Amino acid sequence: MIAHQAEALVLRTWPVHEADQIVSLFTRDQGKLKGIAKSSAKSRRRFGGALEPMTYVLASYVEKPRQDLVRLDSCEILSSPLSEPVDYARAAALAFFAEILEETLPDHDPQDSVFRLALAVLDHTRTGHIWLPVTYFGLWILRLMGWMPDIVHCTLCGRSFAREPAYFHIEADGLLCSDHKQPAARVLSSGSLEIAARILHTPVAALATEEWPRGRTADLRRFTMQALERHLERRLHAASALAKLGG
Ligand SMILES: [Zn+2]
Repeated sequence: MIAHQAEALVLRTWPVHEADQIVSLFTRDQGKLKGIAKSSAKSRRRFGGALEPMTYVLASYVEKPRQDLVRLDSCEILSSPLSEPVDYARAAALAFFAEILEETLPDHDPQDSVFRLALAVLDHTRTGHIWLPVTYFGLWILRLMGWMPDIVHCTLCGRSFAREPAYFHIEADGLLCSDHKQPAARVLSSGSLEIAARILHTPVAALATEEWPRGRTADLRRFTMQALERHLERRLHAASALAKLGG
């Protein structure tokens, strides 16, 4: 048996047996893993509110040989998303981060850059301020997973978009120029292409000083969600919740 203590983000929980829960954790040192938290639904002494999705915790757990599940002994809250007000929109943003991490990360594969990205966007996800962190996180996940197409040139002919819009299609990777766009392609404005380039070169804290109303970069979010869903080969529940908010 090996005992660990690690920084982690709680992704989701499932009830099992009477009062136990399976917990999916994204640990900094060991990547994503699943643990069993005994009696966590009954006794709140060891876990308190620490098992809410996207809680940043110091997790103590024990690995046993030949067992997939670790034994989760306790979680000390380092930062809880519940320490600030949660409305429907902020809950949808938090659920989006948790679902993307759960679905994209392989088990037992540490991804420190993804961990730092998640902590950075969490810090800026506040009531009334969700659209920058959601857009930033989605775009950076595409980049870090190696799923980001060229956002400067047409995938087919290599022509620079310069100050022109680009076009994307739900069933195809890449961005195309106006000459090569497919039927039913959606448009990504030149303003949103510029913002995408800034997002990929600027810390979220520096962008958070600007106004990010819902309508800003809505086309960029649609592009990002479609690309994520295509690569994951499934619909994202949280993406449709965000789309219902008009984002
Ligand atoms: Zn082209």
